[in-house]
Amino acid sequence: MTNTGTTTKATTGAEGSATAGSPNTPVEVRNPASGELAGTVVFASREEVAADVAALRAAQPAWEAIGPRGRKEWLLKLQDWVVDNAEELADTIQAESGKTRIDARVEVAFTVDQLGYWARNAAKFLAEQHPAPHTPLMRVKRLATVYKPYAVVGIITPWNFPLGMGIADVVPALAAGAAVMHKPSEVTPLTPLVLARGWAEIGAPPVLSVVSGAGETGAAVIENVDYVQFTGSVPTGRRIGVKCAEQMTPYSLELGGKDPAIVLSDADLDRAAYGIAYGALVNTGQLCISIERVYVEAPVYDEFLAKLVAHVKELRQGRDDRSNSFDLGPLANQAQLDIVTRHVEEAVAAGAKVLTGGKAFGPGTFFEPTVLVDVDHTMSCIVEETFGPTIPVMKVADEAEAIRLANDSIFGLSASVWTGNRSRGQRVARLINAGAVNINDSVINLFNPSIPHGGWGQSGTGYRWGGASGLRKYCRVQAITAPSMPTQKKELLWFPYS
Ligand code: NAD
Repeated sequence: MTNTGTTTKATTGAEGSATAGSPNTPVEVRNPASGELAGTVVFASREEVAADVAALRAAQPAWEAIGPRGRKEWLLKLQDWVVDNAEELADTIQAESGKTRIDARVEVAFTVDQLGYWARNAAKFLAEQHPAPHTPLMRVKRLATVYKPYAVVGIITPWNFPLGMGIADVVPALAAGAAVMHKPSEVTPLTPLVLARGWAEIGAPPVLSVVSGAGETGAAVIENVDYVQFTGSVPTGRRIGVKCAEQMTPYSLELGGKDPAIVLSDADLDRAAYGIAYGALVNTGQLCISIERVYVEAPVYDEFLAKLVAHVKELRQGRDDRSNSFDLGPLANQAQLDIVTRHVEEAVAAGAKVLTGGKAFGPGTFFEPTVLVDVDHTMSCIVEETFGPTIPVMKVADEAEAIRLANDSIFGLSASVWTGNRSRGQRVARLINAGAVNINDSVINLFNPSIPHGGWGQSGTGYRWGGASGLRKYCRVQAITAPSMPTQKKELLWFPYS
């Protein structure tokens, strides 16, 4: 762990409120469910970020040199540390985000899974490739594709998964042989610091630095690193893309979503109702791949809706502790609550009906799980990312209308199709404009790193998570050619001047 002392001063006691963004001034982090103080952090200054990146740059060559098998040992040691410290990690996630115990535990389980996956697969993904020359002219050449990690990768993440969001990119970047500077959201900066402490406690090389701060610190990260991976909102992603382009720094963006679910008339409606409720409401809807709109074929619309509403009404929402007694928690902050409230109010004002939920409540930033009908594509709840516990449902005449409406979006992150007919599901999936499609499932691709996915359209650019491309995006690709024969007799055209 690099320079934790200078840039990641997190404490757990009250130190008074502060002006966010002033270097060296403690900034409070509060639980949105209870208002309790979860901890404080000090935002890193530009100079501290530059010094940390310099230290990472100095440590990276040795990290690259031990190769994927050497790095595997460290990642698996960290995996053991995460298992041993799972309760502290879950406690910290809950303290700073207010989310339910089950949602916090899912993040820890995801972290354990990710560490194992990338540790075990990095050698395979980084192996040099030797494609056969494809023309007679080139047949006496030996070709190699080589993957060389960037020295320092900067990873900037949002607040919805304080641990998991960083893990999804920090781990493959480390496995690739890069050093990593992670700047988590200023809303949930504490859990990544616990993980960084774990990295130091296992005695791993100092190739991971976690810096606290908001946009200014993020900008300083971008100015110093060799590759930028950003996950967050579209407006911030656009700004970061422009900045990276000006610097000629390579980057990838994973942004927002408005994921559609299509329920076809031959679907198992119980499975669809349960799967869609979970896909829309897990993490209180604060998930980039949340289901945010549902299109149901007319013959099964009433039956599906009845099942969905009955199920949503059964869900428990509240301020969770370690008791595991709630399905939904609060929204992460007042700004998020305001967006959800606005989307529901605007929909109702334009003629939508609330079948269950529909109200904010406190103390804390809670909004009830909400099913809306009589919605259309003029409403914010159907076209803008809500990032909250709302399920707008539309009746459609047939499959073609469902596909047309699903594709009527600036986003293309993920989608789901619910049908009892496998080949129909496969066919419809291929007609949807989204980087990932689940058939009879929701959000499950979160746990499936073997196939790459990333957003289309305004859901992102250049990003692939999972599989070989999820690791290789943290590498520069080098093409090496050499004569494969001891003499050059059989080479054609080389060297023409001779
Ligand atoms: P955000 O864009 O406001 O902030 C994300 C991160 O960027 C934070 O760490 C923030 O401090 C940092 N930042 C802000 N301005 C910056 C700047 N000028 N330079 C560098 N860094 C800067 O997003 P948010 O509100 O934290 O998160 C919610 C958004 O994230 C939603 O739109 C959601 O869809 C998206 N998200 C996407 C995915 C995905 O995988 N596609 C996953 C989770 C969240």
